[in-house]
Amino acid sequence: MRLGPAQVRFTGVAEGDLGHAGAWVERPTAEVEARRRAVVDRPWSWLRQVHGATLVVVDEPGGGAGQEADAAVSSVPGVALAVFTADCAPVALASDNGVIGVAHAGWRGLLAGVVEAAVDAMRGLGADRIQAALGPCIHAECYEFGPTDLAAVAAKLGDEVRGTTANGRPALDVPAAVRVVLARSDVELVSAGDVCTACSDAHFSFRARKEMARQAGVVWMQ
Ligand SMILES: [Zn+2]
Repeated sequence: MRLGPAQVRFTGVAEGDLGHAGAWVERPTAEVEARRRAVVDRPWSWLRQVHGATLVVVDEPGGGAGQEADAAVSSVPGVALAVFTADCAPVALASDNGVIGVAHAGWRGLLAGVVEAAVDAMRGLGADRIQAALGPCIHAECYEFGPTDLAAVAAKLGDEVRGTTANGRPALDVPAAVRVVLARSDVELVSAGDVCTACSDAHFSFRARKEMARQAGVVWMQ
């Protein structure tokens, strides 16, 4: 789909495992590389994700690949920025003047400020108006959450993040948390897939099915 002047893809089971099947590796296998190229045929800047707020500024196609970070930004043509998720939120970002970003946002990353870090870094690269797209992630109905951690997220992002599971238990509403962060950062959310990875057979979910495969969120400039 389009996001301003950029393109975004959020994959699912159909595109196969685009991560590393749960194991950290220096580089993708030929199989994984082929699956990635079938989605976006350029070198991917992918990250060794650790649920933090560190980001990589990518200055050439494929740059930053394998670095330990949870967000990437770039203003360079030819770059494709990717994050891998099962239940965490993939957030794609693009500005009208062609600065792009991507963030892997689970609850720890949201607490650490990973989305804000990406937006700030994009503005540091000269981004003007920024728009965002949120890909498939776990929704409150399926995401029972401990009271202490939920209170920590709510203290940072407000009570909007408090949700309820399908059977009435306290839950974290990840999409609501992403919406709060984007609004505070003055970024318009123009697309939210509204797919719950735990409910969807078309998506990988660690939480629901202990799947180690990962779908991707990729953003690139045409
Ligand atoms: Zn669900």
